[in-house]
Amino acid sequence: MTTPARLLVLSGPSGVGKSSVVDRIRSTFPDVHLSVSVTTRAPRPGEVHDVHYRFIGRDAFERMIEGGELLEWAEFAGNLYGTPAAPVAQSLAEGRSVLMEIDLQGARQVRARSGDLGVDDLLVFLAPPSWDVLVHRLEGRGTEDPAVISARLDTARVELAAEGEFDRTVVNDDVERAAGEIVALLNG
Ligand code: 5GP
Repeated sequence: MTTPARLLVLSGPSGVGKSSVVDRIRSTFPDVHLSVSVTTRAPRPGEVHDVHYRFIGRDAFERMIEGGELLEWAEFAGNLYGTPAAPVAQSLAEGRSVLMEIDLQGARQVRARSGDLGVDDLLVFLAPPSWDVLVHRLEGRGTEDPAVISARLDTARVELAAEGEFDRTVVNDDVERAAGEIVALLNG
């Protein structure tokens, strides 16, 4: 018997390495449907439109909200992020599970809506091996200024405290191992 398609939500504090784990899933497990979010944030070096995000303006984002096109959305560090609902619905209708990498606010919205949508959701928390490792990673990324890093650390404290709201925790001690554990949860 095959497992019914499910919505796996991957969240965790800024700097925990969600993008690295998702990049690893993208390259190692090409069959996994990764939801591509829309965002008003500017692309970082190396990010590809329609692969890592669909980069859009605030007006276009607001039109998507008004049109009911987003499964969930949130404002994070001054930018808007959201999950387009149609590709998710289509995948689930085809019996394919979907992995969404989103923030805590988005995870809560999915949990609140999944019953109505008749969808089986699994909330997975990606945790750092320790707080010190998280601080080190946030400082080491080097793409943001100190005020942004400090704001993200504040958010990370709040996000770490929410671990209990999740169904499972995966520790990002090793990107490849964590990616494999998440894909096993998606298929299991
Ligand atoms: P970043 O700017 O570092 O790519 O992402 C910032 C935060 O936004 C991360 O916590 C990421 O998981 C979250 N995020 C990315 N896409 C979405 C989305 O579609 N919805 C929500 N709620 N959060 C998202």
